[in-house]
Amino acid sequence: MAQVYDHGGGVRSLQVPIPDNPLGHTLVYVVDTDRGPVLIDTGWDDPTSWDTLAEGLTACCTSVGEIHGVVVTHHHPDHHGLSGRVREASGAWIAMHAADGAIVRRTRSTRPQRWFTYMTAKLEAAGAPEEHVAPLRAARPRTLPGLAPALPDREIVPGELLDLPGRRLRAIWTPGHTPGHVCLHLEEDHPARLPGHGRLFSGDHLLPEITPHIGLYEDPDDATVTDPLGDYLDSLERVGRLAPAEVLPAHQHVFTDAAARVRELLTHHEDRLTGLLSLLTEPLTPWQLAVRMEWNRPWDQIPYGSKNIAVSEAEAHLRRLVKLGRAEAVAGSEPVMYMAV
Ligand SMILES: [Zn+2]
Ligand SMILES: [Zn+2]
Repeated sequence: MAQVYDHGGGVRSLQVPIPDNPLGHTLVYVVDTDRGPVLIDTGWDDPTSWDTLAEGLTACCTSVGEIHGVVVTHHHPDHHGLSGRVREASGAWIAMHAADGAIVRRTRSTRPQRWFTYMTAKLEAAGAPEEHVAPLRAARPRTLPGLAPALPDREIVPGELLDLPGRRLRAIWTPGHTPGHVCLHLEEDHPARLPGHGRLFSGDHLLPEITPHIGLYEDPDDATVTDPLGDYLDSLERVGRLAPAEVLPAHQHVFTDAAARVRELLTHHEDRLTGLLSLLTEPLTPWQLAVRMEWNRPWDQIPYGSKNIAVSEAEAHLRRLVKLGRAEAVAGSEPVMYMAV
Protein backbone atom coordinates (compact mmCIF):
# COMPACT_ATOMS: atom_id res chain seq x y z
CA MET A 1 0.00 0.00 0.00
CA ALA A 2 1.17 3.49 -0.81
CA GLN A 3 2.07 5.57 2.25
CA VAL A 4 0.52 9.02 1.81
CA TYR A 5 1.01 11.85 4.26
CA ASP A 6 -0.83 15.16 4.15
CA HIS A 7 1.50 18.02 5.16
CA GLY A 8 -1.29 20.60 4.86
CA GLY A 9 -1.61 23.58 2.56
CA GLY A 10 -1.93 21.46 -0.60
CA VAL A 11 1.26 19.45 -0.06
CA ARG A 12 1.34 15.69 0.34
CA SER A 13 4.14 13.14 0.27
CA LEU A 14 4.31 9.59 -1.05
CA GLN A 15 6.92 7.02 -0.01
CA VAL A 16 8.19 5.56 -3.28
CA PRO A 17 10.42 2.53 -2.59
CA ILE A 18 14.03 2.31 -3.78
CA PRO A 19 14.66 -1.40 -4.45
CA ASP A 20 17.52 -3.05 -2.50
CA ASN A 21 18.66 0.17 -0.90
CA PRO A 22 19.07 0.85 2.84
CA LEU A 23 17.53 4.31 2.35
CA GLY A 24 14.23 2.52 1.75
CA HIS A 25 12.30 5.14 -0.15
CA THR A 26 12.23 8.51 -1.82
CA LEU A 27 9.68 11.02 -0.54
CA VAL A 28 7.88 12.31 -3.62
CA TYR A 29 5.95 15.51 -2.90
CA VAL A 30 2.66 16.33 -4.57
CA VAL A 31 2.03 20.08 -4.68
CA ASP A 32 -1.41 21.25 -5.77
CA THR A 33 -1.49 24.13 -8.25
CA ASP A 34 -4.31 25.85 -10.15
CA ARG A 35 -3.32 23.78 -13.20
CA GLY A 36 -3.12 20.39 -11.51
CA PRO A 37 -0.69 18.61 -9.22
CA VAL A 38 3.04 19.10 -9.62
CA LEU A 39 5.53 16.50 -8.38
CA ILE A 40 8.80 17.28 -6.68
CA ASP A 41 10.95 14.30 -7.74
CA THR A 42 9.44 11.06 -8.98
CA GLY A 43 11.38 8.07 -7.60
CA TRP A 44 13.34 5.09 -8.86
CA ASP A 45 12.51 3.59 -12.26
CA ASP A 46 11.23 0.18 -11.21
CA PRO A 47 7.81 -1.48 -11.71
CA THR A 48 7.03 -1.62 -7.96
CA SER A 49 8.04 2.00 -7.48
CA TRP A 50 5.89 3.04 -10.43
CA ASP A 51 2.88 1.15 -9.05
CA THR A 52 3.40 2.76 -5.64
CA LEU A 53 3.57 6.22 -7.20
CA ALA A 54 0.40 5.57 -9.21
CA GLU A 55 -1.49 4.16 -6.18
CA GLY A 56 -0.32 7.05 -4.04
CA LEU A 57 -1.63 9.58 -6.54
CA THR A 58 -4.96 7.77 -6.59
CA ALA A 59 -5.03 7.98 -2.78
CA CYS A 60 -4.48 11.75 -3.23
CA CYS A 61 -7.66 11.79 -5.39
CA THR A 62 -5.72 12.42 -8.58
CA SER A 63 -3.79 10.23 -11.04
CA VAL A 64 -0.54 10.08 -12.98
CA GLY A 65 -2.43 11.34 -16.05
CA GLU A 66 -3.35 14.55 -14.20
CA ILE A 67 0.22 15.60 -13.37
CA HIS A 68 0.92 19.12 -14.67
CA GLY A 69 4.69 19.20 -14.15
CA VAL A 70 7.70 17.55 -12.53
CA VAL A 71 10.32 19.56 -10.64
CA VAL A 72 13.52 17.55 -10.22
CA THR A 73 15.85 18.42 -7.33
CA HIS A 74 18.78 16.63 -9.01
CA HIS A 75 19.52 14.03 -11.67
CA HIS A 76 20.09 10.96 -9.44
CA PRO A 77 17.94 7.95 -10.37
CA ASP A 78 16.11 7.80 -7.02
CA HIS A 79 14.79 11.32 -7.80
CA HIS A 80 14.56 11.54 -11.58
CA GLY A 81 14.09 7.86 -12.45
CA LEU A 82 10.35 7.88 -13.12
CA SER A 83 10.12 11.40 -14.60
CA GLY A 84 10.05 10.09 -18.16
CA ARG A 85 7.20 7.69 -17.43
CA VAL A 86 5.20 10.42 -15.70
CA ARG A 87 5.67 12.68 -18.75
CA GLU A 88 4.61 9.89 -21.11
CA ALA A 89 1.45 9.26 -19.08
CA SER A 90 0.45 12.89 -18.58
CA GLY A 91 2.27 15.24 -20.96
CA ALA A 92 3.77 16.97 -17.90
CA TRP A 93 6.84 19.16 -18.34
CA ILE A 94 10.08 18.21 -16.52
CA ALA A 95 12.16 21.01 -14.97
CA MET A 96 15.79 20.66 -13.87
CA HIS A 97 18.77 22.94 -13.26
CA ALA A 98 20.96 23.36 -16.37
CA ALA A 99 24.05 21.78 -14.75
CA ASP A 100 22.22 18.54 -13.99
CA GLY A 101 20.42 18.74 -17.35
CA ALA A 102 23.89 18.70 -18.94
CA ILE A 103 24.74 15.52 -17.00
CA VAL A 104 21.56 13.86 -18.26
CA ARG A 105 22.43 14.83 -21.83
CA ARG A 106 25.98 13.50 -21.41
CA THR A 107 24.79 10.25 -19.80
CA ARG A 108 22.52 9.64 -22.78
CA SER A 109 25.24 10.30 -25.36
CA THR A 110 28.45 8.95 -23.80
CA ARG A 111 29.42 5.52 -25.05
CA PRO A 112 29.85 3.12 -22.10
CA GLN A 113 33.40 2.28 -23.20
CA ARG A 114 34.41 5.94 -23.03
CA TRP A 115 33.03 6.16 -19.50
CA PHE A 116 34.97 3.07 -18.39
CA THR A 117 38.18 4.44 -19.92
CA TYR A 118 37.64 7.72 -18.08
CA MET A 119 36.96 6.01 -14.72
CA THR A 120 40.00 3.75 -15.17
CA ALA A 121 42.26 6.75 -15.80
CA LYS A 122 40.79 8.60 -12.81
CA LEU A 123 41.34 5.67 -10.43
CA GLU A 124 44.92 5.21 -11.67
CA ALA A 125 45.59 8.91 -11.14
CA ALA A 126 44.18 8.58 -7.60
CA GLY A 127 46.69 5.80 -6.87
CA ALA A 128 44.28 2.83 -6.94
CA PRO A 129 46.18 -0.49 -6.93
CA GLU A 130 46.28 -2.60 -10.09
CA GLU A 131 44.00 -5.31 -8.63
CA HIS A 132 41.27 -2.69 -8.20
CA VAL A 133 41.65 -1.10 -11.65
CA ALA A 134 42.11 -4.32 -13.64
CA PRO A 135 38.42 -5.44 -13.68
CA LEU A 136 37.37 -2.01 -14.93
CA ARG A 137 39.99 -2.08 -17.69
CA ALA A 138 38.88 -5.56 -18.75
CA ALA A 139 35.18 -4.63 -18.83
CA ARG A 140 33.72 -4.44 -22.31
CA PRO A 141 30.20 -3.23 -21.63
CA ARG A 142 27.71 -2.82 -24.44
CA THR A 143 25.30 -0.80 -22.39
CA LEU A 144 25.19 0.32 -18.80
CA PRO A 145 21.96 -0.26 -16.91
CA GLY A 146 19.67 2.72 -16.48
CA LEU A 147 21.32 4.82 -19.13
CA ALA A 148 18.36 6.68 -20.54
CA PRO A 149 17.25 9.29 -18.01
CA ALA A 150 14.62 11.68 -19.41
CA LEU A 151 15.81 14.96 -20.91
CA PRO A 152 14.25 17.88 -19.06
CA ASP A 153 12.21 20.33 -21.13
CA ARG A 154 12.36 23.27 -18.73
CA GLU A 155 15.30 24.87 -16.98
CA ILE A 156 15.15 25.73 -13.28
CA VAL A 157 16.67 29.20 -12.96
CA PRO A 158 18.32 29.89 -9.59
CA GLY A 159 16.54 32.52 -7.50
CA GLU A 160 13.44 32.59 -9.70
CA LEU A 161 9.89 31.51 -8.97
CA LEU A 162 8.80 28.44 -10.89
CA ASP A 163 5.82 28.83 -13.15
CA LEU A 164 3.30 27.17 -10.83
CA PRO A 165 -0.11 28.90 -11.06
CA GLY A 166 -1.35 29.80 -7.59
CA ARG A 167 1.86 28.93 -5.72
CA ARG A 168 5.08 30.69 -4.77
CA LEU A 169 7.87 28.14 -5.19
CA ARG A 170 11.35 29.61 -5.56
CA ALA A 171 14.43 27.75 -6.80
CA ILE A 172 17.45 27.86 -4.50
CA TRP A 173 20.57 26.56 -6.26
CA THR A 174 22.46 24.30 -3.83
CA PRO A 175 25.39 22.70 -5.71
CA GLY A 176 27.55 20.15 -3.87
CA HIS A 177 25.80 16.77 -3.88
CA THR A 178 25.45 17.33 -7.65
CA PRO A 179 26.45 20.48 -9.59
CA GLY A 180 22.82 21.33 -10.39
CA HIS A 181 21.08 20.33 -7.15
CA VAL A 182 18.25 22.68 -6.18
CA CYS A 183 16.17 23.13 -3.06
CA LEU A 184 12.70 24.59 -3.52
CA HIS A 185 11.36 27.20 -1.16
CA LEU A 186 7.59 27.31 -0.81
CA GLU A 187 7.26 30.92 0.29
CA GLU A 188 3.79 30.62 1.77
CA ASP A 189 2.98 30.70 5.47
CA HIS A 190 3.30 27.34 7.16
CA PRO A 191 -0.22 25.80 7.35
CA ALA A 192 0.18 25.26 11.13
CA ARG A 193 1.77 28.74 11.50
CA LEU A 194 5.08 27.35 12.70
CA PRO A 195 7.61 30.16 13.11
CA GLY A 196 9.93 30.66 10.16
CA HIS A 197 9.76 31.45 6.47
CA GLY A 198 7.67 28.95 4.54
CA ARG A 199 8.75 25.40 3.82
CA LEU A 200 11.82 24.03 2.09
CA PHE A 201 11.87 20.98 -0.17
CA SER A 202 15.50 20.06 0.40
CA GLY A 203 16.10 17.07 -1.91
CA ASP A 204 19.31 15.33 -0.79
CA HIS A 205 20.98 18.58 0.25
CA LEU A 206 19.68 18.72 3.81
CA LEU A 207 18.57 15.45 5.40
CA PRO A 208 17.67 14.96 9.08
CA GLU A 209 19.97 12.06 9.99
CA ILE A 210 22.45 11.37 7.21
CA THR A 211 25.06 13.40 5.35
CA PRO A 212 24.78 13.29 1.56
CA HIS A 213 27.67 11.96 -0.51
CA ILE A 214 29.95 14.75 -1.72
CA GLY A 215 32.34 13.50 -4.40
CA LEU A 216 33.89 14.95 -7.53
CA TYR A 217 31.60 16.13 -10.34
CA GLU A 218 32.61 13.39 -12.79
CA ASP A 219 32.74 14.76 -16.33
CA PRO A 220 34.89 13.21 -19.08
CA ASP A 221 34.54 16.40 -21.16
CA ASP A 222 35.53 18.94 -18.54
CA ALA A 223 38.92 19.24 -16.86
CA THR A 224 37.94 22.19 -14.63
CA VAL A 225 39.20 21.73 -11.08
CA THR A 226 35.95 22.08 -9.16
CA ASP A 227 35.48 22.20 -5.38
CA PRO A 228 32.25 20.28 -4.69
CA LEU A 229 32.73 20.23 -0.91
CA GLY A 230 33.29 24.00 -0.91
CA ASP A 231 30.14 24.38 -3.03
CA TYR A 232 28.22 22.18 -0.61
CA LEU A 233 29.28 24.08 2.50
CA ASP A 234 28.36 27.41 0.83
CA SER A 235 24.99 25.94 -0.18
CA LEU A 236 24.37 24.79 3.40
CA GLU A 237 24.92 28.28 4.76
CA ARG A 238 22.61 29.74 2.12
CA VAL A 239 19.81 27.33 3.06
CA GLY A 240 20.35 27.94 6.79
CA ARG A 241 19.83 31.69 6.24
CA LEU A 242 16.41 31.03 4.65
CA ALA A 243 15.24 29.84 8.08
CA PRO A 244 12.30 27.76 6.80
CA ALA A 245 9.63 26.78 9.33
CA GLU A 246 9.89 23.18 8.17
CA VAL A 247 12.15 21.10 5.93
CA LEU A 248 10.64 18.47 3.61
CA PRO A 249 13.57 16.28 2.53
CA ALA A 250 13.62 13.60 -0.16
CA HIS A 251 14.53 10.81 2.30
CA GLN A 252 13.82 9.96 5.94
CA HIS A 253 11.36 12.45 7.54
CA VAL A 254 10.23 16.05 7.81
CA PHE A 255 11.96 18.21 10.43
CA THR A 256 12.16 21.73 11.84
CA ASP A 257 15.10 23.95 12.88
CA ALA A 258 17.01 23.87 9.61
CA ALA A 259 19.62 26.22 11.07
CA ALA A 260 20.55 23.70 13.79
CA ARG A 261 20.88 20.89 11.25
CA VAL A 262 23.03 23.12 9.04
CA ARG A 263 25.31 23.86 12.01
CA GLU A 264 25.62 20.12 12.75
CA LEU A 265 26.62 19.37 9.18
CA LEU A 266 29.12 22.25 9.02
CA THR A 267 30.70 20.99 12.26
CA HIS A 268 30.73 17.41 10.94
CA HIS A 269 32.64 18.46 7.81
CA GLU A 270 35.02 20.70 9.76
CA ASP A 271 35.81 17.76 12.08
CA ARG A 272 36.28 15.47 9.11
CA LEU A 273 38.70 17.89 7.42
CA THR A 274 40.65 18.22 10.67
CA GLY A 275 40.79 14.42 10.94
CA LEU A 276 42.12 14.18 7.39
CA LEU A 277 44.84 16.73 8.12
CA SER A 278 46.12 14.50 10.92
CA LEU A 279 46.35 11.62 8.40
CA LEU A 280 48.20 13.85 5.93
CA THR A 281 51.26 14.26 8.14
CA GLU A 282 52.75 11.73 5.68
CA PRO A 283 52.31 12.00 1.87
CA LEU A 284 49.26 10.05 0.66
CA THR A 285 47.52 9.45 -2.66
CA PRO A 286 43.73 9.97 -2.66
CA TRP A 287 43.37 6.17 -2.63
CA GLN A 288 45.64 5.81 0.42
CA LEU A 289 43.73 8.57 2.15
CA ALA A 290 40.39 6.86 1.41
CA VAL A 291 41.73 3.58 2.86
CA ARG A 292 42.67 5.40 6.09
CA MET A 293 39.48 7.49 6.42
CA GLU A 294 36.61 6.43 8.65
CA TRP A 295 33.69 4.82 6.83
CA ASN A 296 30.65 2.97 8.07
CA ARG A 297 32.57 -0.31 7.88
CA PRO A 298 36.17 -1.53 7.51
CA TRP A 299 37.76 -0.76 4.12
CA ASP A 300 38.11 -4.40 3.03
CA GLN A 301 34.37 -4.93 3.60
CA ILE A 302 33.34 -2.00 1.39
CA PRO A 303 31.89 -3.22 -1.94
CA TYR A 304 33.80 -2.46 -5.15
CA GLY A 305 31.57 0.34 -6.46
CA SER A 306 31.35 1.99 -3.05
CA LYS A 307 35.15 2.11 -2.88
CA ASN A 308 35.13 4.20 -6.06
CA ILE A 309 32.61 6.54 -4.45
CA ALA A 310 34.76 6.70 -1.30
CA VAL A 311 37.85 7.68 -3.33
CA SER A 312 35.83 10.38 -5.05
CA GLU A 313 34.77 11.65 -1.62
CA ALA A 314 38.40 11.62 -0.40
CA GLU A 315 39.38 13.65 -3.48
CA ALA A 316 36.61 16.19 -2.84
CA HIS A 317 37.99 16.68 0.68
CA LEU A 318 41.55 17.02 -0.66
CA ARG A 319 40.39 19.68 -3.14
CA ARG A 320 38.88 21.64 -0.26
CA LEU A 321 42.02 21.36 1.89
CA VAL A 322 44.21 22.47 -1.03
CA LYS A 323 41.89 25.39 -1.75
CA LEU A 324 42.02 26.42 1.92
CA GLY A 325 45.83 26.26 1.79
CA ARG A 326 45.84 23.53 4.46
CA ALA A 327 47.27 20.78 2.19
CA GLU A 328 49.27 20.65 -1.03
CA ALA A 329 50.36 18.24 -3.74
CA VAL A 330 53.87 16.83 -3.32
CA ALA A 331 55.92 18.14 -6.26
CA GLY A 332 56.91 15.44 -8.73
CA SER A 333 54.83 12.66 -7.14
CA GLU A 334 53.15 10.25 -9.57
CA PRO A 335 50.40 9.34 -8.85
CA VAL A 336 50.04 12.65 -7.08
CA MET A 337 50.37 12.58 -3.27
CA TYR A 338 49.15 15.18 -0.82
CA MET A 339 50.46 16.42 2.49
CA ALA A 340 49.26 18.81 5.19
CA VAL A 341 50.92 22.22 5.01
ZN1 LIG B 1 21.25 12.19 -4.64
ZN1 LIG C 1 18.52 10.60 -2.97
